[in-house]
Amino acid sequence: MKNFDCVVVGGGMIGAASALALSQLGLTVALIEKSEPKCFDIEQAFDLRVSAISLASEYLLEQLGAWSQIKQWRACPYKRLGVWEHEYAYTEFNAKDIQQDHLGHIVENRLLQLSLWQQIKAQSNIQLFCPEKLVSLTQDNDKATLILTQITLTAKLVIAADGANSQVRQLVNIGTTAWDYQQSAMLINVKTQMSQQDITWQQYLPTGPVAFLPLATSFDSQTAANGYASLVWYHQRDEIKRLSALSNQQLQREVMAMFPQKLGQIEVLAKGAFPLTRRHANTYQNNRVLLLGDSAHTINPMAGQGVNLGFKDVQALQSVIASAIGEGESWHKAHVLGRYEKMRRTDNLLMQSTMDVLYHAFSHPSPIIKVLRSASLLAVNKVPLLNNVVKNKALAYACGI
Ligand SMILES: Cc1cc2nc3c(=O)[nH]c(=O)nc-3n(C[C@H](O)[C@H](O)[C@H](O)COP(=O)(O)OP(=O)(O)OC[C@H]3O[C@@H](n4cnc5c(N)ncnc54)[C@H](O)[C@@H]3O)c2cc1C
Repeated sequence: MKNFDCVVVGGGMIGAASALALSQLGLTVALIEKSEPKCFDIEQAFDLRVSAISLASEYLLEQLGAWSQIKQWRACPYKRLGVWEHEYAYTEFNAKDIQQDHLGHIVENRLLQLSLWQQIKAQSNIQLFCPEKLVSLTQDNDKATLILTQITLTAKLVIAADGANSQVRQLVNIGTTAWDYQQSAMLINVKTQMSQQDITWQQYLPTGPVAFLPLATSFDSQTAANGYASLVWYHQRDEIKRLSALSNQQLQREVMAMFPQKLGQIEVLAKGAFPLTRRHANTYQNNRVLLLGDSAHTINPMAGQGVNLGFKDVQALQSVIASAIGEGESWHKAHVLGRYEKMRRTDNLLMQSTMDVLYHAFSHPSPIIKVLRSASLLAVNKVPLLNNVVKNKALAYACGI
């Protein structure tokens, strides 16, 4: 049996960031993960799973020591964000409008995880258990006991960062409020005839949005004139199923027909489909177990906010425990840990609800609603007061600053 201050279950982006954040407070941490991420090699093709990382998340990753490595590997900055339904109501958000150099970066999820793991392996107060799995979890007044396949651990605090279908959440009987969206998302990695771009854009079609996320091209010097991108195609589940069954060449033709012309010529390299579920845990805490990241909440990814909310959870947890330690409180007591949920629940709910409003507003077929949505986008772009206040406030909120 081994004893730790904290055990983190799940070594994805949020679990790895949590382990580092807790270790920075001088706590001993065990990190349990089912499978080790594959090492990075500059020749590797882009992974399908990528995230738009906000400025706030970049600051956290910097503080955890992981950001510079990610940028050295590959990450694509974007400075502009274009949104429209009809061309005449095109709205563009620009980093300059909020006095920033860029709005965020598009990064492969695995590289985020790997860079955090690199830092974890350099910390003497974090022990990594991988590949390992949780078998059971019990709690008493003093500690939590986690039985793994090879070893038993005890902890004062357990972090559930084991994703949307969290086993820990189920083991401690925390229920969720959840529903499936009608749409699924297809992620498509493409090579573009255009060189690397500094814009990410999204067009709302009656069937769901189509989006463009630029990827960094540095790894492929022979074709530096080309760019790479991750396209996201939201559509009814049956249609995404049909598209998934197509060959890359057939899919390429369908993409060229449905995506806006500004995409230019593309070549499909890889594709994958993902169901969309909205889930919110009924509570983030059961005694000394806390839920973070997707184990606590999943949202519609149309504004690329999911993992950014998780990173905000990590920041809140670190600040709650740091304050408790600073005040000489028992940082692991249930009433202290409860402050984490107070800090995060409303913010997560607000972002989830904002995505739901956008999802419903833009999938509504009524012609009146259609006119209203284009008029709102047009007004935000053309009316100076709305442009300066609403648009820039919304942008700063999306960037987490
Ligand atoms: C199509 C799509 C596009 C998205 N795009 C964006 C975007 O642009 N920006 C953004 O911010 N978010 C985006 N998201 C959301 C983002 O991917 C998630 O919010 C993020 O992956 C959550 O990270 P996590 O670490 O909480 O969970 P996960 O990434 O699910 O990691 C959980 C980890 O726990 C491990 N694990 C699970 N069970 C156990 C166990 N019992 N024992 C040990 N280990 C275990 C798993 O192996 C995994 O490594 C998108 C989501 C989707 C579906």
